[in-house]
Amino acid sequence: MKYPKLRELKEAIKAIIKGPYTTEFPFKPHKPFERFRGKPKFHEENCIGCGACFQVCPAKAIEMNDVGNKRILTVHWDLCIFCGNCQTNCLTEKGIMLSDEFDVSTTEKKEELKQEISKELVICEGCNKPIAPYDQILWVAKRLSALLFSNASLMLLYLKDMDLALKETLPYRDEFLRSDRIKVLCPRCRREAVIKS
Ligand code: SF4
Ligand code: SF4
Repeated sequence: MKYPKLRELKEAIKAIIKGPYTTEFPFKPHKPFERFRGKPKFHEENCIGCGACFQVCPAKAIEMNDVGNKRILTVHWDLCIFCGNCQTNCLTEKGIMLSDEFDVSTTEKKEELKQEISKELVICEGCNKPIAPYDQILWVAKRLSALLFSNASLMLLYLKDMDLALKETLPYRDEFLRSDRIKVLCPRCRREAVIKS
């Protein structure tokens, strides 16, 4: 007859006293351990819409679409592999963060397995095409400090944000005048405005 090893016997006695090691999920909520990598979630107030998370996502679980004057960012939890690349590479470090939510099963529509946020885009007053998200340009402007006044677009958006410049955009014209240099312009239109006016 074989006798159980002492170590195994000790573990068995401990398990009888402590109770089951497993949790009662799904009947009771399960709280994962610290630093668990669960569903990545956007925190809109900290996101500047730069799209870095979209660029680095290896599973293509983050979608980015510019529609009119809005940038739409969507994270699809059913495609996510919970690698954490988006959080690590987020410019603000807290625009998207992994949560402790792990349950991605649903009997409802697939649409529930995603989160969508939108950011306002700055539109070029020359060509009417989007330049970048408003929040991203302001984020850059604030970091440049006094240097931001070397770029008319940055300066204007910064002053508009502080209510020190008119918020209205000027109507689009076919050719640039000298006064157009002090406008919110994309790099291409700025070059044209400087060369042609
Ligand atoms: S955790 Fe990884 S796979 Fe999931 S959205 Fe972020 S970068 Fe993509
Ligand atoms: S700020 Fe962070 S969460 Fe927002 S788009 Fe950029 S990388 Fe993604």
